Amino acid sequence: MEKKKRNTKTKQLVMSAFSKANAALCHEDIERQFAGQLDRVTIYRILQGFCDDGVLHKISSEGGKTYYALCHHCTHEQHNDEHLHFHCLACNRIYCLEVPAITVPLPPEYKVVAVSCIVSGYCIECSKTTNH
Ligand SMILES: [Zn+2]
Ligand SMILES: [Zn+2]
Ligand SMILES: [Zn+2]
Repeated sequence: MEKKKRNTKTKQLVMSAFSKANAALCHEDIERQFAGQLDRVTIYRILQGFCDDGVLHKISSEGGKTYYALCHHCTHEQHNDEHLHFHCLACNRIYCLEVPAITVPLPPEYKVVAVSCIVSGYCIECSKTTNH
C-alpha cells in the first residue's frame, strides 16, 4: 500500500513536468528536473508505463534520441498520434502540431507501421523574438 501511494506520487510529479513544459521532453529533461528525487530507472518505468496507458507517445528525433509528449485522444488499447512533430532550431524544443502526419505514397506491396517525420524550423515564440 505504501509503495503504491509513492508510485502514484512520483507519477504525478512526472505528469506535472509534462503539463508545464508544453513541449516534448526527453529522459534527461525529466532527470534534470527531479535530480535527487527520482532515479533513472524509476523515470524510465514511469515513462514506459505512460506510453502503455496511452498518456504519452514517443517521438524519435533526428539524433536518435527519444522524446515523450502528451497524448490527447489515446487509450491504453490504441495510440492515435498521427500528427506532425516540429523541432525548433532556436530553442531546441520538440512540439506536437495539430496537423495530420504526412502520408507516404508507398507501393502497394509495402505496409507502413510507423512514420516518423519531424519538421524543423522556428517555433512561434522564437520567430517572434529573433529575426530568422
Ligand atoms: Zn498516443
Ligand atoms: Zn523555439
Ligand atoms: Zn506528438
